[in-house]
Amino acid sequence: MSTPAPAMQLLEAARNLSALGLNKGTSGNASIRLSDGFLVTPSGVPAEQLSEDSMVYMRWDGTPERGKKPSSEWRMHMDILQARPEVNAILHCHSMFATTIACLGRNVPPFHYMIAAVGGDNIRCAPYALFGTQALSDTAVVALQDRKACLLAHHGMLALGKDLSQALAIAVEVENLCEQYWRLLQLGEPKLLSAQQMQEVEAQFKDYGQWKK
Ligand code: 13P
Ligand code: ZN
Repeated sequence: MSTPAPAMQLLEAARNLSALGLNKGTSGNASIRLSDGFLVTPSGVPAEQLSEDSMVYMRWDGTPERGKKPSSEWRMHMDILQARPEVNAILHCHSMFATTIACLGRNVPPFHYMIAAVGGDNIRCAPYALFGTQALSDTAVVALQDRKACLLAHHGMLALGKDLSQALAIAVEVENLCEQYWRLLQLGEPKLLSAQQMQEVEAQFKDYGQWKK
Protein backbone atom coordinates (compact mmCIF):
# COMPACT_ATOMS: atom_id res chain seq x y z
CA MET A 1 0.00 0.00 0.00
CA SER A 2 1.43 3.40 -0.93
CA THR A 3 1.75 6.22 1.62
CA PRO A 4 -0.95 8.92 1.26
CA ALA A 5 0.14 12.40 0.14
CA PRO A 6 1.32 14.71 2.97
CA ALA A 7 -1.88 16.84 2.90
CA MET A 8 -3.98 13.68 3.27
CA GLN A 9 -1.77 12.45 6.13
CA LEU A 10 -2.20 15.80 7.90
CA LEU A 11 -5.97 15.71 7.40
CA GLU A 12 -6.13 12.19 8.85
CA ALA A 13 -3.97 13.24 11.82
CA ALA A 14 -6.24 16.23 12.61
CA ARG A 15 -9.33 14.03 12.33
CA ASN A 16 -7.73 11.35 14.53
CA LEU A 17 -6.89 13.89 17.26
CA SER A 18 -10.52 14.98 17.24
CA ALA A 19 -11.95 11.42 17.09
CA LEU A 20 -9.76 10.36 20.02
CA GLY A 21 -11.03 13.34 22.05
CA LEU A 22 -7.53 14.86 22.26
CA ASN A 23 -8.67 18.06 20.55
CA LYS A 24 -11.96 19.93 20.48
CA GLY A 25 -13.10 22.85 18.35
CA THR A 26 -10.26 24.86 16.84
CA SER A 27 -7.71 23.88 19.51
CA GLY A 28 -4.46 22.33 18.37
CA ASN A 29 -2.58 22.03 15.10
CA ALA A 30 -0.31 19.66 13.17
CA SER A 31 2.57 19.74 10.72
CA ILE A 32 4.60 17.47 8.47
CA ARG A 33 8.05 18.03 6.97
CA LEU A 34 8.44 18.38 3.20
CA SER A 35 11.78 18.50 1.36
CA ASP A 36 11.68 22.27 0.79
CA GLY A 37 9.50 23.41 3.71
CA PHE A 38 6.59 22.02 5.70
CA LEU A 39 2.83 21.66 5.59
CA VAL A 40 0.78 22.94 8.54
CA THR A 41 -2.92 23.04 9.42
CA PRO A 42 -4.71 26.39 8.88
CA SER A 43 -5.56 28.73 11.76
CA GLY A 44 -8.92 28.49 13.50
CA VAL A 45 -10.55 25.70 11.47
CA PRO A 46 -12.18 22.80 13.36
CA ALA A 47 -11.18 19.27 12.23
CA GLU A 48 -14.61 18.55 10.70
CA GLN A 49 -14.24 21.54 8.34
CA LEU A 50 -10.73 20.70 7.14
CA SER A 51 -9.92 19.33 3.69
CA GLU A 52 -6.61 18.40 2.02
CA ASP A 53 -6.77 21.76 0.25
CA SER A 54 -6.94 23.69 3.56
CA MET A 55 -3.40 22.68 4.53
CA VAL A 56 -0.85 25.49 4.24
CA TYR A 57 2.54 25.01 2.60
CA MET A 58 5.28 27.08 4.26
CA ARG A 59 8.83 27.76 3.20
CA TRP A 60 11.72 27.50 5.68
CA ASP A 61 11.92 31.32 5.81
CA GLY A 62 8.39 31.43 7.28
CA THR A 63 6.61 32.54 4.10
CA PRO A 64 3.15 30.94 3.79
CA GLU A 65 1.47 29.82 0.59
CA ARG A 66 -0.24 32.84 -0.96
CA GLY A 67 -3.81 33.50 0.19
CA LYS A 68 -3.71 31.04 3.10
CA LYS A 69 -3.43 31.67 6.83
CA PRO A 70 -1.31 29.07 8.65
CA SER A 71 -1.77 27.96 12.25
CA SER A 72 -0.95 30.74 14.71
CA GLU A 73 1.70 28.29 16.02
CA TRP A 74 3.57 28.01 12.70
CA ARG A 75 6.77 29.40 14.31
CA MET A 76 6.72 26.60 16.90
CA HIS A 77 6.30 23.97 14.16
CA MET A 78 9.01 25.52 11.98
CA ASP A 79 11.52 25.96 14.82
CA ILE A 80 11.06 22.40 16.12
CA LEU A 81 11.39 20.91 12.62
CA GLN A 82 14.57 22.94 12.11
CA ALA A 83 16.04 22.10 15.52
CA ARG A 84 15.25 18.38 15.28
CA PRO A 85 16.28 16.77 11.99
CA GLU A 86 15.03 13.32 13.12
CA VAL A 87 11.49 14.71 13.60
CA ASN A 88 9.19 14.83 10.56
CA ALA A 89 5.81 15.37 12.21
CA ILE A 90 4.43 17.46 15.08
CA LEU A 91 1.08 17.40 16.85
CA HIS A 92 -0.14 20.03 19.29
CA CYS A 93 -3.30 19.54 21.35
CA HIS A 94 -5.18 20.78 24.40
CA SER A 95 -6.15 17.30 25.62
CA MET A 96 -7.85 17.16 29.02
CA PHE A 97 -5.27 15.55 31.30
CA ALA A 98 -2.07 16.87 29.71
CA THR A 99 -3.56 20.36 29.87
CA THR A 100 -4.69 19.86 33.48
CA ILE A 101 -1.13 18.98 34.56
CA ALA A 102 0.24 21.77 32.34
CA CYS A 103 -1.97 24.22 34.26
CA LEU A 104 -0.16 23.16 37.45
CA GLY A 105 3.08 24.01 35.62
CA ARG A 106 4.57 20.66 36.68
CA ASN A 107 7.00 18.33 34.96
CA VAL A 108 5.58 14.80 34.96
CA PRO A 109 8.05 12.77 37.08
CA PRO A 110 8.99 9.08 36.58
CA PHE A 111 6.03 7.60 38.50
CA HIS A 112 5.63 4.93 35.74
CA TYR A 113 8.23 3.28 33.53
CA MET A 114 6.40 4.44 30.34
CA ILE A 115 7.69 7.98 31.00
CA ALA A 116 10.87 6.66 29.31
CA ALA A 117 8.91 6.17 26.05
CA VAL A 118 8.90 9.97 25.77
CA GLY A 119 12.71 10.01 25.86
CA GLY A 120 14.00 10.45 29.39
CA ASP A 121 13.09 10.44 33.07
CA ASN A 122 10.41 13.12 32.96
CA ILE A 123 8.03 14.97 30.65
CA ARG A 124 9.01 18.61 30.95
CA CYS A 125 6.54 21.46 31.21
CA ALA A 126 7.68 24.55 29.31
CA PRO A 127 7.06 27.83 31.18
CA TYR A 128 4.04 29.86 30.10
CA ALA A 129 4.27 32.13 27.06
CA LEU A 130 1.50 33.66 24.94
CA PHE A 131 0.14 31.38 22.18
CA GLY A 132 1.39 32.11 18.67
CA THR A 133 4.58 33.86 19.80
CA GLN A 134 8.29 33.36 19.24
CA ALA A 135 8.63 33.22 23.06
CA LEU A 136 6.38 30.12 23.17
CA SER A 137 8.34 28.49 20.37
CA ASP A 138 11.64 29.17 22.18
CA THR A 139 10.47 27.65 25.48
CA ALA A 140 9.03 24.62 23.64
CA VAL A 141 12.30 23.87 21.81
CA VAL A 142 14.17 23.90 25.15
CA ALA A 143 11.59 21.70 26.95
CA LEU A 144 11.71 19.20 24.06
CA GLN A 145 15.47 18.67 24.23
CA ASP A 146 16.09 14.87 24.08
CA ARG A 147 12.33 14.32 24.34
CA LYS A 148 9.45 13.36 22.02
CA ALA A 149 6.90 15.44 23.93
CA CYS A 150 6.48 18.26 26.42
CA LEU A 151 3.70 20.12 28.20
CA LEU A 152 3.15 23.85 27.65
CA ALA A 153 2.17 25.64 30.87
CA HIS A 154 -1.45 26.88 30.96
CA HIS A 155 -1.88 25.61 27.41
CA GLY A 156 -1.49 21.95 26.32
CA MET A 157 1.05 19.52 24.90
CA LEU A 158 3.33 18.88 21.94
CA ALA A 159 4.14 15.42 20.54
CA LEU A 160 6.83 14.66 17.96
CA GLY A 161 7.51 11.71 15.69
CA LYS A 162 9.43 10.49 12.70
CA ASP A 163 5.99 10.43 11.08
CA LEU A 164 2.44 11.45 12.04
CA SER A 165 1.42 8.00 13.25
CA GLN A 166 4.38 7.94 15.67
CA ALA A 167 3.55 11.47 16.87
CA LEU A 168 -0.06 10.39 17.44
CA ALA A 169 1.06 7.35 19.45
CA ILE A 170 3.21 9.66 21.62
CA ALA A 171 0.32 12.12 22.12
CA VAL A 172 -1.96 9.25 23.21
CA GLU A 173 0.71 7.93 25.61
CA VAL A 174 1.37 11.36 27.13
CA GLU A 175 -2.35 11.91 27.67
CA ASN A 176 -2.61 8.47 29.29
CA LEU A 177 0.37 9.15 31.59
CA CYS A 178 -1.05 12.55 32.55
CA GLU A 179 -4.39 10.97 33.43
CA GLN A 180 -2.63 8.40 35.61
CA TYR A 181 -0.56 11.15 37.25
CA TRP A 182 -3.68 13.23 37.85
CA ARG A 183 -5.40 10.24 39.50
CA LEU A 184 -2.33 9.56 41.66
CA LEU A 185 -2.25 13.17 42.81
CA GLN A 186 -5.75 12.67 44.26
CA LEU A 187 -4.30 9.98 46.53
CA GLY A 188 -1.14 11.76 47.61
CA GLU A 189 2.38 12.29 46.28
CA PRO A 190 3.28 9.31 44.03
CA LYS A 191 6.38 7.19 44.64
CA LEU A 192 8.94 7.61 41.86
CA LEU A 193 11.33 5.31 40.04
CA SER A 194 15.03 6.04 40.64
CA ALA A 195 17.46 7.35 37.99
CA GLN A 196 19.03 3.85 37.92
CA GLN A 197 15.63 2.18 37.37
CA MET A 198 14.81 4.61 34.55
CA GLN A 199 18.17 3.91 32.89
CA GLU A 200 17.33 0.20 32.99
CA VAL A 201 13.98 0.95 31.33
CA GLU A 202 15.67 2.96 28.58
CA ALA A 203 18.08 0.06 27.94
CA GLN A 204 15.18 -2.44 27.91
CA PHE A 205 13.26 -0.29 25.40
CA LYS A 206 16.12 -0.66 22.89
CA ASP A 207 15.04 -4.28 22.35
CA TYR A 208 11.29 -3.76 22.77
CA GLY A 209 8.69 -4.40 20.04
CA GLN A 210 9.21 -5.73 16.54
CA TRP A 211 12.70 -5.85 15.05
CA LYS A 212 13.50 -2.88 12.90
CA LYS A 213 13.65 -3.58 9.17
P1 13P B 1 -4.57 27.60 15.46
O1 13P B 1 -6.03 27.32 15.14
O2 13P B 1 -4.13 28.96 14.95
O3 13P B 1 -3.68 26.47 15.00
O4 13P B 1 -4.43 27.74 17.03
C1 13P B 1 -4.89 26.75 17.91
C2 13P B 1 -3.98 26.62 19.08
O5 13P B 1 -3.97 25.59 19.70
C3 13P B 1 -3.09 27.75 19.48
O6 13P B 1 -2.16 27.34 20.41
ZN1 ZN C 1 -2.69 25.57 21.48
